[in-house]
Amino acid sequence: PSLEVRPRDGGAEVLAGYVDVHAVQVVRVGLGGVVRGRRTVATPAPPSPERAAEVLAGAAAALLAESPPGLLAGVGVAVPGLVRAGDGVIAHAPNLDWRDVPLAALVTTALEDATGHRLRVDVANDADLGLLAEHRRGAAAGLTDVVYLCGTHGLGGGVLTGGHPLTGHRGYAGEVGHVSVDPDGRACRCGSRGCWESETLAAAWAEPFGLDGDAPDLADLVLARLAAGGVVSRRTRDKLSRAFARGLANIVHLFDPQAVVLGEGLWHRLWPEVREDVMPWVDRLVMPAMRAGVSVRTSALGEGSTVLGAAELALTPLLEDPLGP
Ligand code: BGC
Ligand code: ZN
Repeated sequence: PSLEVRPRDGGAEVLAGYVDVHAVQVVRVGLGGVVRGRRTVATPAPPSPERAAEVLAGAAAALLAESPPGLLAGVGVAVPGLVRAGDGVIAHAPNLDWRDVPLAALVTTALEDATGHRLRVDVANDADLGLLAEHRRGAAAGLTDVVYLCGTHGLGGGVLTGGHPLTGHRGYAGEVGHVSVDPDGRACRCGSRGCWESETLAAAWAEPFGLDGDAPDLADLVLARLAAGGVVSRRTRDKLSRAFARGLANIVHLFDPQAVVLGEGLWHRLWPEVREDVMPWVDRLVMPAMRAGVSVRTSALGEGSTVLGAAELALTPLLEDPLGP
């Protein structure tokens, strides 16, 4: 039998969005992952669910106005939170301050109002989608055991184990950002304290530089300060590096991955600066037999990988061979 993928329609395309804390990204993507258009729209931080759906639909309408679409096959949406398997309701997105949000329904209606198209909308966790994108066409291609990390305000994890995504019984598995790395650490937006996310991401970097942890361009500001040199003390850098290494060590011990991929967001952008501080701690904290053979690498798709993963989600039904292998 043939294993060849047979797309059902050569002109098919999808829309995809990523609703994050400060902005909504939208792309228009053809079969094969070809990006036909891209928009990023800043929003109030955090946007309300209704506002997010409206902004997403408005950007989608603008992209569709650029050229007539072929067959619009569906919409994928990435969100920084717990997405319930089955109905796609967002149970909790800590950094958006959303609970029990039926985003797919809101986006369906907003898209119908803005574009006249009534489309199937699928919602999934941002890190799970970043993993999907990197696995199909990026730094995790060909691997069976991978942990993908992303985020600037939150730290998300997508886990592939034995070739299958790890889901948990409701679809929430992989919330590595809320594993505690410091019992006395700062309060996290999830309600706990000293989470890997609150100890290593926006808030943790903003503090020593005197920056606003909620600044939309925080990653740029931090990188600029680091490039200027000497502003953050050795002690602070060590503390941040150790906190990041602790989380990485936990991940290696839990999942025995071939690779940890640093995806879209702060750590991916900071990695060239901090890698040499972090990796010696990883070497010390992980049992030697487990440390060997695990690579820590940055994503191949970089910024924008999450929304491409949302496009992959929407493309998936088209890739299934109707005749079967
Ligand atoms: C959320 C995750 C999300 C991550 C990155 C965390 O705060 O709990 O679901 O994947 O942020 O956006
Ligand atoms: Zn937390």
